[in-house]
Amino acid sequence: MTDQSSFSLLEQTASMINRSKTPVVCGHIMPDGDCISSVLSLSIGLWKLGIQAVPTIDWPIPSEFEGFPCVHNISDFSRDVSQTDLLICVDSSTKDRLGRFETLIDKGLPSVVIDHHTTNTMFGELNWVAPEYSSTAQMILRLLKFMKVDYDEELALVNYLGIATDTGFFRYSTVDETVFSDAAELVRMGADPAFVARQVLERNRVEFLYLKRDAINNLELHQSGLVAVSYLRNDSFVKYGIREDEFSGFVNELRAIDTVEVAIFASEDDKGNAHFSLRSKTSFDVSKVAQDFGGGGHKNAAGFTHTCSEGFCNALEELLQVIRKQLQSEHS
Ligand code: AMP
Ligand code: MN
Ligand code: MN
Repeated sequence: MTDQSSFSLLEQTASMINRSKTPVVCGHIMPDGDCISSVLSLSIGLWKLGIQAVPTIDWPIPSEFEGFPCVHNISDFSRDVSQTDLLICVDSSTKDRLGRFETLIDKGLPSVVIDHHTTNTMFGELNWVAPEYSSTAQMILRLLKFMKVDYDEELALVNYLGIATDTGFFRYSTVDETVFSDAAELVRMGADPAFVARQVLERNRVEFLYLKRDAINNLELHQSGLVAVSYLRNDSFVKYGIREDEFSGFVNELRAIDTVEVAIFASEDDKGNAHFSLRSKTSFDVSKVAQDFGGGGHKNAAGFTHTCSEGFCNALEELLQVIRKQLQSEHS
């Protein structure tokens, strides 16, 4: 992990950021814990160095993250960012994941990408892309330590959030020794693991269980149990007053079924588009499938958003066919 190439990219990233006065730190749409953590911990760290970073995400903040320090400092696209001299994109594999902040790239603003997705398209001027890290939050820890930022309890807590959530609370295949040593270091500096787990995992409204009941009713197994599929149409989300991006964990429960290698969960938004979450347990590479549909991610966790012009069910059937084919070619 400290090989020459990734070390020098870290150095170049630090020096580009050090030269900037008012960087915008931008995460991805449909933000997860790693995105919120990376945007906030980088911004807090830079404030400590006297750099006036502006944390931004072009999407509402999911309710499970509301209790974390400085979350309310995150601005959306309504914030005037015309004075910025650098765009720092974190945890985002493609520029369209920035939402409307993508226009800053198109206008030619200097940019640096800090990300751990294998499918990253290297859309920045400088791209520190390192899939060997479990989370972008781990990269931010390396960067801030390199920049000699003094950690306090709040920064340690916010930085820990991304490592915990992107590893499924230290369970996924991306977990290696560095994950534990980085998490331990953040705990030593004041992060409270029980607080993070409680905020993220144990503050659900009962409506989440009702929504899960609808999703379980829609569950189907295919390919002799190798593939699990479920979905929620927009009317279910409306019925329980939950936004589709707030119901993100169910696909992992589908993957947890003993026979399942590939899990698919689709949620429909109010405009007839659907977000597809894909998971695999071992060797099946879902990021390839997601890329075929214009998305991306990692080998065992990927996703894409699809305009269902031919209807929601047809889009789901099309995806299933692609997965069936890939499974067959793997087993022939
Ligand atoms: P999700 O199923 O939404 O939790 O996403 C799983 C993984 O795929 C995460 O690492 C996301 O960053 C990535 N991902 C999800 N949607 C997209 C997309 N539209 N484009 C690129 N990557 C995505
Ligand atoms: Mn993310
Ligand atoms: Mn991530």
